[in-house]
Amino acid sequence: MNNAEKIRFDAIVVGAGLAGSAAAMVLAREGLNVALVERGQKPGGKNYFGGAIYTHAIAEVLPDFMERRPPFERPVTEAGFWFLAEDGLTRATVQGGKLDVEPADAYITLRADFDPWWAEQAQDVGAFLIPKTTVVDFIRDPAGQVIGVQTDRPQGDIYAPVVIICEGVNNLLTQKLGLIDHDLEPSHVALAFKQVISLPAETINARFGLPDNDHGLAVSVLGDVSLGLPGMGFVYTNKKSVSVGLGMMLDKLAEYRLRPYDILQRYLEHPAIAPLVKDGQLLEYGGHLIPEGGYRDMPQLYTGGAMVAGDAASMVNALHWEGTNMAIIAGKLAAETAIDAHERGDFSAQTLSAYESRLREGFILKDLKQYRNFAKFLETHPEFMDVYPDFLNDALGQFFSAYGKPKRELFQNIFGALTHRRPLFRAVGDMISMTRSVMGL
Ligand SMILES: Cc1cc2nc3c(=O)[nH]c(=O)nc-3n(C[C@H](O)[C@H](O)[C@H](O)COP(=O)(O)OP(=O)(O)OC[C@H]3O[C@@H](n4cnc5c(N)ncnc54)[C@H](O)[C@@H]3O)c2cc1C
Repeated sequence: MNNAEKIRFDAIVVGAGLAGSAAAMVLAREGLNVALVERGQKPGGKNYFGGAIYTHAIAEVLPDFMERRPPFERPVTEAGFWFLAEDGLTRATVQGGKLDVEPADAYITLRADFDPWWAEQAQDVGAFLIPKTTVVDFIRDPAGQVIGVQTDRPQGDIYAPVVIICEGVNNLLTQKLGLIDHDLEPSHVALAFKQVISLPAETINARFGLPDNDHGLAVSVLGDVSLGLPGMGFVYTNKKSVSVGLGMMLDKLAEYRLRPYDILQRYLEHPAIAPLVKDGQLLEYGGHLIPEGGYRDMPQLYTGGAMVAGDAASMVNALHWEGTNMAIIAGKLAAETAIDAHERGDFSAQTLSAYESRLREGFILKDLKQYRNFAKFLETHPEFMDVYPDFLNDALGQFFSAYGKPKRELFQNIFGALTHRRPLFRAVGDMISMTRSVMGL
């Protein structure tokens, strides 16, 4: 192929997920000729999450997003934790106040609907979507700088002076480029699996205490959901369905030879969960990996001619279920860096290092650094998955029961319920460790 026949763009974005379509949108809006390459039949075809998507991030890329009628399910108007014991449930959720705003801070979403719409916004400003195409390698100049990609199509090489890699958790290309020298450790990756269960909207509203279809619930579930192993469940109310699932670390699933569908089935049959999904029809069942290593697993974020954003760069805060917002904003910042590089006509690693500086100014790297020990904390403190949720149910159950005995006895019983499960000095140590891991100390 001679030079004139080569397929050339100003930028190539790999993966039409949240990071990729955000990057393509920002680049195309600036008038650059962008190829957005997606291996799925269409954007969203390969994607699966909980989940809720955050409007602060969408607005940074697409300020008038509400006018463009995004395919949201419900706004998150109630959020928090549910603590599940074997025979009980404690709910700690918040509603109203900061959650009662328009547009909402977060919307419950199904990726099969959202991702095509998100990619369409990039196409509307001129990005060229190339679906059903997998990027398999890079094209480099003699000095090793990335100057394009090889795809799985015949004569599928595409050239551009800058490539933004938004390939998601299976970061094979990031590894190929040498930005990270190892595959993700099974102890740093969660396998999340869920069912989407169809129910009439009125049934969902009645069962979850939602006044109407413009209200939605998003909760993380701790306790009798992950068999005492590091993991967390979730429940999201869609318009006419409920998403129920959980994420558990891959190494534990392998070590204990656990089958994800058995654990999910057990969770769905829990006496506090089963009535919520009773008589529902299974619409979807699926699983997806979550890179939970965060800061510890972050690759080098740029090299000559290329940058990496989103899950491919381990940009996930597992405690807060934040990954979508990091992906969208990282995609945007990579695109802005690529635009600057075009203005300078310089795509060297030094110029693209501005991407990391941009990330450092915002919340992404700050948060990931702060939470860098959180995954390790969960791994070494399984008590938070069974002992404490169980104690909480027991303690609150006692507190709100009128025993007809002096209250001093009640408090002694509650204290005993704790120390019977966990010696006091260990419980104090656990709380200090949790605070330290969340505060990044
Ligand atoms: C069960 C579950 C629940 C979650 N819940 C939440 C939540 O409630 N809130 C939240 O903020 N985050 C949540 N997350 C995390 C969130 O989904 C991710 O952080 C986010 O999707 C990352 O976006 P991304 O663009 O980096 O990657 P992805 O969305 O995974 O997109 C990657 C894209 O690249 C494509 N691709 C990959 N390789 C190639 C290739 N070689 N060539 C071409 N295309 C390629 C893929 O097909 C895909 O479309 C959850 C994750 C899971 C699994």
